[in-house]
Amino acid sequence: MERKPCAACRRLFRPRPQNSGQRYCSDSDCQLARRRQWQKSKRQSDPDYLENQAKAQRSWTKRNPDYWRQYRQAHPEYENQNRKQQTERNARRQARKIAKMDSSDPNLRLASGVYRLSPWPYGIAKMNAWMVEITVLSYTSDEVRRLQRDDSIGTGESG
Ligand SMILES: [Zn+2]
Repeated sequence: MERKPCAACRRLFRPRPQNSGQRYCSDSDCQLARRRQWQKSKRQSDPDYLENQAKAQRSWTKRNPDYWRQYRQAHPEYENQNRKQQTERNARRQARKIAKMDSSDPNLRLASGVYRLSPWPYGIAKMNAWMVEITVLSYTSDEVRRLQRDDSIGTGESG
């Protein structure tokens, strides 16, 4: 039998004589790829197959309600990895938020409103000027809209 390239790994293999149409070699990864490919084309051509699969998945989940809980217990690294990724996502989101609050952003200039004034706790004690932290407690949506189109309000840098 002629050798031909495997449809998955492209390595040359010799199809079994009883299966001359064989397109995948016997490597387990390639056999997995073959089954996936078969399922994929089956799903596309047969709506009943898709429905049956969904049904099977639902009843499997019903019969094995603790599967994922047990899986996570048996594979703590899986959960740690998930948690680590979530922490990283949160940190990136927080960083974007802070970047948006930069005073050079024309969309976020100080307007009249209610502010909290508190001593900056990390500064040098003896200073002639006060160093304060201003936290905007409320922006009405009208103010936000006005701020977004009104360019006449200074940035506060000249004070
Ligand atoms: Zn292969």
